[in-house]
Amino acid sequence: MPEGPEIRREADELAAILEKRIAREVDFANPALQHWSRQLEGKRIVRVAPHGKAMLIRFVNRLTIYSHNQLFGRWYTARPGERADTRRTLRLRIETDKGAALLYSASTIAVLDERGVREHPYLSRLGPDLLDADAAPATFAQRLREPAFAKRTLGALFLDQGFIAGVGNYLRSEFLWAAKLDHRRTPASLTPSQRRRLAKEIHAIGLRAYETGGYTNDPKLIERLKAKGNKRALRFAAFAREGKPCYRCGELIRREVANGRRIYRCPVCQPRVDDDRPPRSSSRRKFEQPVRAERERIEPSPRRRPGPGSSASPRRRRP
Ligand SMILES: [Zn+2]
Repeated sequence: MPEGPEIRREADELAAILEKRIAREVDFANPALQHWSRQLEGKRIVRVAPHGKAMLIRFVNRLTIYSHNQLFGRWYTARPGERADTRRTLRLRIETDKGAALLYSASTIAVLDERGVREHPYLSRLGPDLLDADAAPATFAQRLREPAFAKRTLGALFLDQGFIAGVGNYLRSEFLWAAKLDHRRTPASLTPSQRRRLAKEIHAIGLRAYETGGYTNDPKLIERLKAKGNKRALRFAAFAREGKPCYRCGELIRREVANGRRIYRCPVCQPRVDDDRPPRSSSRRKFEQPVRAERERIEPSPRRRPGPGSSASPRRRRP
């Protein structure tokens, strides 16, 4: 299922032909919705915006077409008067002078007024959107501080659209790898600096995946890998990289199952915890040495006082 970044790119494509234009035709396949066409045709479309995994197409008369593609639905765009080249069943067609937005095989389509949007059972329980223009690291740090989420595992929270809307399974592995956290950790167990780091990574990686079409890896890392001759599998740092070396420490990435979905983790960078206590300082020091050495190579960080054994050898790296 597409996640927030993919849905937002889809919304951008729809917006390019729909936004600020008059809907010449609005056709619903479902007879129960067809009476809405009269109220939408000839009206200007003011906004196309995803929320969570739903698409909202708002008209000037304050009616909104809501659609949620579930597993199979898919938007296409075509020239005015044309259809998409697919054998799927057409569920909704919206046409302007610029083109046609066509929704095939969607599971849920509705037309809502403002109250309907506010009180919609799916929309009303969504958390802040990963890619909302107003979202900032502070938005996600605040989420991590909310008592309602404090005791749940991060692995579970990142699949809950009520926590942050638009996050899904590949982003979950990538956020946690970047922030060096095991998926069994809970927000309550994070130190303030771990929380800030995680919030920063959620913001940065979400935006990057949107801008690059689904790449979560740091562009500098991708360049380095390409320079070494890697041509494939540059998209993710951890997700779907089982048995491949971690880009920070060289340890092999593991595949696990959390909340019924696959998740990937570096056992060195993201040491496993089975309770809420942060790892003891001795083990933390042991785990973080090679990682810190690598990070300083990529992005020079403020100098820290070296701890015992700080001359971790970069030999451990096997990227
Ligand atoms: Zn690692």
